Amino acid sequence: MQVIACIKQVPDTTQVQIDPKTNTLVRDGIPFIVNPYDTHALEECLRLKDRYGFKVTAVSMGPPNAEAALRKALSLGADRAVLLSDRVFGGADTLATSNVLTAAIRKLAEEEDVAIVFCGKQTIDGDTAQVGPGIATRMELEQLTLVDRILELDTDSKKLVVRRKLEGRYETVQTVLPAMITVVREINRPRYPTVPMRLRSKNAQVEVWNNEVLQLDVNKIGLKGSPTWVSKIFSPQRDKGEMIGAGISDPKDVASLLLDKMIAKDIITV
Ligand SMILES: Cc1cc2nc3c(=O)[nH]c(=O)nc-3n(C[C@H](O)[C@H](O)[C@H](O)COP(=O)(O)OP(=O)(O)OC[C@H]3O[C@@H](n4cnc5c(N)ncnc54)[C@H](O)[C@@H]3O)c2cc1C
Repeated sequence: MQVIACIKQVPDTTQVQIDPKTNTLVRDGIPFIVNPYDTHALEECLRLKDRYGFKVTAVSMGPPNAEAALRKALSLGADRAVLLSDRVFGGADTLATSNVLTAAIRKLAEEEDVAIVFCGKQTIDGDTAQVGPGIATRMELEQLTLVDRILELDTDSKKLVVRRKLEGRYETVQTVLPAMITVVREINRPRYPTVPMRLRSKNAQVEVWNNEVLQLDVNKIGLKGSPTWVSKIFSPQRDKGEMIGAGISDPKDVASLLLDKMIAKDIITV
């Protein structure tokens, strides 16, 4: 029985640059990291390996350099790493991304049963939170999003009970395996790789699957299979700030000046 962690390599968000002409990411010189939520998804897989002996497979779709994210997963204890990389996968929106990941997971499931597919809650670049549910829908898996705790897992009866972290409350949900879970940060604290594991992972094999392996219809993947596309990316322009009330020191006068300004700008009404 295996568990799968979907991990995506994302740019370190503080340093992202967008090419204003093409509206695409400028990749040169940008450091990439594993999407932080996905490190929690992987950690949960590793905990299930420690407790139940599941095999852990890490899967990523991306350009060849996304291999680094998978090597990190191997250094943490993943047993297998598969990179889905092909020019025809490029330019994918969330639908096309889900199609490729689903095909890969189906192929992995032919070799060994899949108990749970783990994803992060969302990525810190695309931020859509659509890919996990997209995979679950296509694979017809029970989907449990925003999970912050696995409360019960019985591999014999295939019972799974989790807690979901919703706005201002928690929800406990029971389902049967196989299932898809998206995790929030609170679920665990990711481990660090040991030095021997890090050294071993340098020589470990990251399998690369292209579309010759997956045999997907090119109209359902990449740019061709993406019904949505980015027409423009821009940072919102901010009006230059206005200094008001310089020299006023009495808090009452400051408060009344602020009120006057907000009334004048229709921010509040009296
Ligand atoms: C309208 C639109 C147009 C786009 N056009 C382009 C484009 O032209 N070129 C381009 O490069 N990108 C494009 N993207 C970005 C690309 O589609 C996203 O990177 C990808 O679809 C994942 O979506 P997300 O980052 O929002 O993931 P989310 O749905 O927020 O991710 C949820 C979880 O799914 C898993 N996951 C997501 N993506 C992957 C992955 N690739 N591999 C493994 N696991 C994954 C992770 O566990 C992640 O935590 C576009 C996105 C949108 C919404």
